[in-house]
Amino acid sequence: MYKPKLGGGIGLRSVFDINRAASIKRFWNCCTSTSVWATWMQKHYCKNLSMWKLLSTLWTHIWKDTANVRQIALWHRHQEDSGIWVWTASPNGQFSFFSAWNIVRSPSQPFDLCNTVWFPSHSPKMACCLLRALNDRLLTAGRLKHFSVIDKDTCVLCSNEPETIQHLFFSCSYSAYIWSLCKLKLGLDPSVSSLQAEALNVQEKFSKKNKCYVLARLVLGGAVWHILEGKIQ
Ligand SMILES: [Zn+2]
Repeated sequence: MYKPKLGGGIGLRSVFDINRAASIKRFWNCCTSTSVWATWMQKHYCKNLSMWKLLSTLWTHIWKDTANVRQIALWHRHQEDSGIWVWTASPNGQFSFFSAWNIVRSPSQPFDLCNTVWFPSHSPKMACCLLRALNDRLLTAGRLKHFSVIDKDTCVLCSNEPETIQHLFFSCSYSAYIWSLCKLKLGLDPSVSSLQAEALNVQEKFSKKNKCYVLARLVLGGAVWHILEGKIQ
């Protein structure tokens, strides 16, 4: 979930990645800045040594954290003839928090259904619910049984089959009826397959130029949300 929306997440940044980026920024400022704080740090901790060569054993707990990312800063520095240090991870050579975060964060695969989940006028709670359903992260009876939270994984809506994401959304007789009515109104093929296929179907049929672009996506997200709400009730 801690990924950009284009990478299949909800757009939140990982606190761990933010902390590492902040540590790089602190180390970079210590080494390159001529501010009173940086000068004091250099004199207090480094004596006559270069800040770049500091070992983590010299630092307090917080500064050890900074020293742990020291190697990343060393990889992305370059000294010009004038003696000025350049941050090579930014196009303009200036250090930026965003460029440091970009280096330390985990890469994510492009999420093909991004504009089906996130679009103008989307409902945040429905978008998050749809995203979790597409990633098979909803707490269905099947998953709860897998984690030994409950004993039975029977679908609470039809009591006929094990409750998985595939069954809960559109395979279950209760859900299939709701979704078939939605598809009828949207003019989609009435046959029902998987949730991913349905989302892809909506994305391909209702492009940005289509006047039902928002409506079709709201219907998909709303159907998933209300099926889940029906199960909880
Ligand atoms: Zn069912």
